[in-house]
Formats: sequence, structure tokens, C-alpha cells
Amino acid sequence: MFETLSDRLTSVFSSLRSKGRLSDADIDATCREIRIALLEADVALPVVKDFVARVKERARGAEVSQALNPAQQVVKIVNDELIEILGGETRRLRYAKTPPTVIMLAGLQGSGKTTLAGKLAKWLRDQGHAPLLVACDLQRPNAVQQLAVMAERAEVAVFAPEPGNGVGDPVAVARQSVEHARRQQHDVVIVDTAGRLGIDQELMRQAADIRDAVSPDEVLFVLDAMIGQDAVSTAQAFMEGVGFDGVVLTKLDGDARGGAALSVRHVTGRPIMFASTGEKLADFDAFHPDRMAGRILDMGDILTLIEQAQKTFDEQEAAKMADKLVSGDGFTLEDFLEQMMMVRRMGPIKNLLGMMPGMGQMRDQLNQVDDRDLDRIAAIIRSMTPAERQDPKVINGSRRARIARGSGVTVTEVGNLVIRFFEAQKMMRRMTQGIGIPGMPGGRK
Ligand code: GDP
Repeated sequence: MFETLSDRLTSVFSSLRSKGRLSDADIDATCREIRIALLEADVALPVVKDFVARVKERARGAEVSQALNPAQQVVKIVNDELIEILGGETRRLRYAKTPPTVIMLAGLQGSGKTTLAGKLAKWLRDQGHAPLLVACDLQRPNAVQQLAVMAERAEVAVFAPEPGNGVGDPVAVARQSVEHARRQQHDVVIVDTAGRLGIDQELMRQAADIRDAVSPDEVLFVLDAMIGQDAVSTAQAFMEGVGFDGVVLTKLDGDARGGAALSVRHVTGRPIMFASTGEKLADFDAFHPDRMAGRILDMGDILTLIEQAQKTFDEQEAAKMADKLVSGDGFTLEDFLEQMMMVRRMGPIKNLLGMMPGMGQMRDQLNQVDDRDLDRIAAIIRSMTPAERQDPKVINGSRRARIARGSGVTVTEVGNLVIRFFEAQKMMRRMTQGIGIPGMPGGRK
């Protein structure tokens, strides 16, 4: 999902990366690109306009951050605005003070409503609730049966009129279901209502009648993300006809663009609460605007990474280290260990790498990075005497054997570490001669 948008935005940002500072013209050009990216992703025009205007305003006013370069600042702004447009905070389900909590589902036929009923029921059951699925779609011949199948798969109870009882009255069924839930100690009731292929008055009236009969704690509007631009008008029609508290987006797995997700909150003023991403019951979860924004930008959690780095690195410590590096002398194994521990304190290496932009496709490789390797290196260095750490050249065969014993590794591993250290030292010297280390305090800017 969101592949198109993600690709476009990533390329917008990569063209900014080389810039030292952004002129107004740069910002305008960037905003134009963002606008095109959003329109191509089927985001509704008013939403696009608003979004771009806010990004532009903030980029021009550039909250100057010493931690971020201009490209990163734009990423941060776009990220913030994406979160905003997706709804800001995660909106959680509201439960009734006195059970049962009544959740009513509304949406077009084929939007994935019945499937969603099963997913939501399972999700609730997994959290320790005892949900009851209620079949109020009495028009479509197979609807009741389909819901019963869902209930079975989700291992939850279902409430439906007896088969063969004719068309039945969905409002009465809804009302009875709440009574039934109360008697049977179900703490959540999920009412599946009838859908139509298109919006019609009859559908809206019936949904509104059910709503009035059971006073739901939450009315959820189920929206198929794949219908693209139509999502907005459908959502508006349901907003006027029935009203709803939150949106469930379905079939996000099939939607490469994401326009519906990015428009619906802005257009209806209602948050996206859940997202469905496949046909299986487990392909479902609560919707988190911040995580979704992160995915769209494929910036991993770069901002978190930066924040974490700032928190962990003691400025003075870093400056001292940088001076040592820049002056070219005395980069010892002691410093090596210290540096490694600084990185280590930021969390598991895998997580750190996973937070870097563009690492999305590299998960498999990341899984092979082993923090224990770092810990072994640290153990080796710790088994050395201060003199050895200061000048590893003194480490001869017998010392190697002693260090290996002390750190529980093989003699070869100790030898390899020393060789790698000499190589690193050589590289440091080359890097620091004349050019400084970019981005390091004390390094040339
Ligand atoms: P309803 O008419 O609104 O009750 O829709 P259904 O629940 O019957 O779903 C219609 C079709 O969409 C079915 O074939 C479902 O398997 C499929 N479907 C539902 N949710 C998803 C989803 O999140 N992803 C995908 N790929 N298919 C889905």
C-alpha cells in the first residue's frame, strides 16, 4: 500500500539531500512535487491544497533545528503533516460504561463489512472480550450465512433470525440482540447492517433506524480503500445519511495509492480507527496515524533515530573523541570500545539499522546482524591490559592466548580484532588528514 506515493516522496526528498540550505524557490519546487505526488495518489484536491499550504508555510518559517539538515527538516514537516492528516492521535474504541458496548457497522455492499465484522470480533476476543456478532443484513440472501461462517472462524457467538423466517425486521433483530447480549454476558455487540451496491435512501434510512433502536457507542463506517476518488463522496453520503464516529479502511493491501486513507479524515472530520489489509482474519489492526505516516515516507523512524542519538551521545564526550580523531593521534582500542558502547547504548543494532531510511527492503539482511558480535568484541577489549589497549602492537602470541582465555573467544578472533583495529586506525588517519570529519563537532563543516 502507498507504494506510488512513497516512491514519489522519497525521490522528492533525495533531490533535497545535497542542499546546504533551502531557498524559497527550492521550497516552492519541493511543494509542487509533493502536490503532484498527492494528486497522483488520488488524494482529494481540497486535502492536497491544504496539506501543501501547511508544508510550505512551515518550511519557510523553518523551525531551525540544529540536529536536522534542511532535507531532514522537510521530511520532518511532511511527516508531521501526514500524521495530522491521518488523524493525529490513535483513536481507540470507546467502551460503554455499562456493557454491552454496541458497535454498528455501515458501508456499501462489497466494502468488506462482513469480513470486517469477523476480524473485529476476533480482535476483541483476543483482548479478552466476549463479542456477539449480529446479522442485520436480511436482504442479501447469503448475508446471514456468511456472517455465521465469520463468527465460526473468529470463534465468537452469532445472533441471527432463524432461517426460513422470511425477510424479518433488521431493527427488531438489532434490538433483540442487545437484550440477548445482556442476558448471555456478551460485553460487546457488533451489528452488521445491510449494504447496497450504491448509495440509496432506503439503505440510509434502514441504517439510521437501526442506529436509533440500539444507540450504538460507536458507528463505524467501512470503506473500501480501492474505490479511489469515490471514497470521498461515499463517505460524505454516509456522514449525512447515518453519521459515524470512525472509519475502518479495508483492502488497504490492494491499494497502491492511499488516496482514501489520506482524504477521509479531512473530508468527514472522523478518524480512521482500524485498517484491514487482507482476506484473512488476522489481517487487521488498530490504525496508528504515526506509524502509517512513517510507512508512507519509508523514512523508517529516522526522526526517532536522530532524537535517540542526541539523547545518548554526550556532547562533550563526542567532542573529545572528535578532537582525538581530527588530530590524528592516539585513537586507541580504548576509544574504539568507548565508541562502540555509545552506539550500543542506543539499542539493538538491528533496530538502529531498521530506523534508517530505505532499509525497508533490507529486513532479511538486518536479521543477520548480531548484537552478540559487538558484545564479543567488547569482551575481547576488556580482557586487555590498559597498556595493550593503548598500543595493541605489543600483543604477541602469549598475550593473544591470555586475552582469548579471558574473553572466552578463540585466539584467531583476538588476532582478527587487532588487525581490524589497525585497518580502522589507518582509515581514520587518512580520513582525518586535512578533511576533517563531516558532521562531527571539531570536524570541518
Ligand atoms: P460486504 O459485502 O461489505 O460484507 O463485503 P465482504 O466482507 O463480503 O467482502 C467482499 C470481498 O472483499 C470478499 O471477497 C472479501 O474476502 C474481500 N475482502 C474484505 N476485506 C478485505 C481486505 O482487507 N483485503 C482484501 N484483499 N480483500 C478483502
